[in-house]
Amino acid sequence: MIKAGTFKNKHIAVFGLGRTGITAALSLKAGGATVYAWDDNAGTVERAKEQGVPIKDLSKIDWKDIDELVLSPGVPDKLPEPHWTAIAAKKANVPIICDIEIFAREVMSRAEEHRPKIIAITGTNGKSTTTALIGHVLQACGKDAQIGGNIGRGVLDLDSMHAGTYYVLELSSYQLERTQSLRANAAVFLNLTPDHLDRHGDMDHYEAAKRRIFLNQTHDDTVVIGVDNPEGRRICSELKVANGRRIVPISGRKSLGHGVCSLKGKLYCAQNSKVVEVADLNKAKALEGMHNWQNAAAAYAAVSSLGVDPEAIGEALLSFPGLAHRMETVGQISNVRFVNDSKATNANAAQQALRSYKDIFWIAGGQAKSDGIEPLETLFPNISKAYLIGEAAPIFHRTLKKSDVENKVSGTLEMAVLCALRDALNSGAENPIVLLSPACASFDQFKNFEVRGDAFREQVSSLIVRFKNSARQGSAA
Ligand code: ADP
Repeated sequence: MIKAGTFKNKHIAVFGLGRTGITAALSLKAGGATVYAWDDNAGTVERAKEQGVPIKDLSKIDWKDIDELVLSPGVPDKLPEPHWTAIAAKKANVPIICDIEIFAREVMSRAEEHRPKIIAITGTNGKSTTTALIGHVLQACGKDAQIGGNIGRGVLDLDSMHAGTYYVLELSSYQLERTQSLRANAAVFLNLTPDHLDRHGDMDHYEAAKRRIFLNQTHDDTVVIGVDNPEGRRICSELKVANGRRIVPISGRKSLGHGVCSLKGKLYCAQNSKVVEVADLNKAKALEGMHNWQNAAAAYAAVSSLGVDPEAIGEALLSFPGLAHRMETVGQISNVRFVNDSKATNANAAQQALRSYKDIFWIAGGQAKSDGIEPLETLFPNISKAYLIGEAAPIFHRTLKKSDVENKVSGTLEMAVLCALRDALNSGAENPIVLLSPACASFDQFKNFEVRGDAFREQVSSLIVRFKNSARQGSAA
């Protein structure tokens, strides 16, 4: 755990006692702060108390005595409705921060030569994959890489820092909004498409939150920026005009005069009028598709900016094992491959898988996001048939019907998998794919996208057993 020594003798309120809230409270306490921690859920408060978190009902404190409020990033302070602790804090002019800010202050309190390296990653889609990939590459190159933030371990739960540590941090817009002091040695901004607008209000505010990843960077630092969508290209130009740090554009699909790009899976680094091939991503099993090539370009650009040997980076990219629920192959029956892309919770994310395969038996639906599936229309020719589940099924049905895409409202995931497998086996296609890439949140039918992906994986596993058994019985008969 990282101790929050910079908060010594301060009075800090902590609201939201999930995993990261508990770690923040304990880190602050260990650093010498007086902590007042609370949650709206009595059971959560009890669990935190058992772990040694100092509990105090924040509705009963005098906010004038509080220096700062650590508010869980998932709890809103403006939209859709400000939480009562945020209202009280603002009334008393108490700044609202999050665990990333605590971490950043610890880093900045050290003399420059003793600071660890920070690689921060944001974007609407691809954050977790790129964070895990960068962590993997650094570890494969023999570095002490600590991976966390919005993925896996909370940032203050990571191992304590020394000058040779590389902190690889996935940062959400919610975390960035409450972070002032972070200085990323390499800041990766992958892409920007509409998401979380209920919380940010509009695209301008969402973008502003994301752009905070560049705060405090100096000319020694690097921006790695995806230029595969118009927003990325605009932000890249604006940063170039503003000047002040190294800027490395990245692309998963088009050549760049300066930057890192992938063309048909070959990864190139273009610098000072020289272009060098650095890896053949077609050999990387877990980096299928142009979006993953963009993620690989980001990883290469970020890690090489920190002086790591380019050849070793190129090699390490190929051994990345991938992450669960992101275009993860979970089984095969006859020639039918099953791909779990449950993490694709919006149309833009689902677009990546739909672009990467042909002869797709597509399972989609759940709790619809505002963009629907109209933006995916150009990829509909890759879909053989769609199987629609959850609340979004009727809306998706109408969209697909308009474009003459064969589809069926299956209702449940279980029914969708059975129908998709049957149709895929009978399709005559050479390599059909049963793809769960819902373009929707999961909350109408599942606890979260992981539970949805696990349900898919488990069903596929039991179908594989059933098919093996029936094949055995068939050959015995
Ligand atoms: P995040 O953490 O930002 O949600 P993930 O790495 O978990 O991103 O990937 C979520 C989904 O986003 C994947 O299933 C994939 O379909 C899509 N995706 C991954 N990388 C990219 C990218 N670079 N650009 C666009 N979409 C991507």
